[in-house]
Amino acid sequence: MKKLNQMYEGKAKKVFATDDPNVVLVEYKDDATAFNGLKKGTIGGKGIINNRMSNYLMQMLEKNGVPTHYIEEISDRETLVKKVTIVPLEVIVRNVAAGSLSKRLGLPEGTPLRKTVLEYCYKNDELGDPMVNEYHIAAMGWADQPTMEKIASYALKINTLLCKYFKAVNVDLIDFKLEFGLTSDGELILADEISPDTCRFWDSTTHEKLDKDRFRRDLGGVEEAYQEISSRLMGE
Ligand code: UDP
Repeated sequence: MKKLNQMYEGKAKKVFATDDPNVVLVEYKDDATAFNGLKKGTIGGKGIINNRMSNYLMQMLEKNGVPTHYIEEISDRETLVKKVTIVPLEVIVRNVAAGSLSKRLGLPEGTPLRKTVLEYCYKNDELGDPMVNEYHIAAMGWADQPTMEKIASYALKINTLLCKYFKAVNVDLIDFKLEFGLTSDGELILADEISPDTCRFWDSTTHEKLDKDRFRRDLGGVEEAYQEISSRLMGE
């Protein structure tokens, strides 16, 4: 597969066309941003870790019946994925209160939730990714009802599987963000990435944070945390 022109550069990844119109190449960068781009930095080796971890988890999800964009890892930072039209939603799954939920509802971080919470945010940087509900999504035509039903059921299934995999390495999955896309055949599949950039991981015993909150909140040991979660899950 030939790497052709760059189609898009995001905050953490670049996307290139290939000689197959249904396949794109993603390249993971070490760049990190937070607070809608207000805070910028780099996390050494992050691109390599996120590429590997996301591919590892997507392959695990595929084996368990969740369709994903993953095709093939071609280098330490590059992966071939199915080209999709992204559903313009960030799908947030929460098991324990943290981050914006804690702020919004005045819940101390770490408060367990009686039920898994699904939230949707409209992907729009200028608007700061506002939270929306299924009525807004239907009214704006961002996704139809059958698509939203599939998104919710995949998100909950992914949560169950990820919780099990992380629990096995003494990590609690606090919350995470997913993105879905539609292929040229109209199939809904999981896209984007699953990594310490998009999940909150806390050590089950010490509650130490092993994710991007170390960067967002200037907690130090950012690279070490990415390395730690990576080696727990996949070995060295
Ligand atoms: N998240 C993400 N991208 C975003 C917003 C959130 O990957 O643009 C992830 C974040 O890492 C966390 C979860 O979604 O695991 C919930 O984030 P929250 O709504 O609490 O927002 P934050 O506190 O990060 O602003």
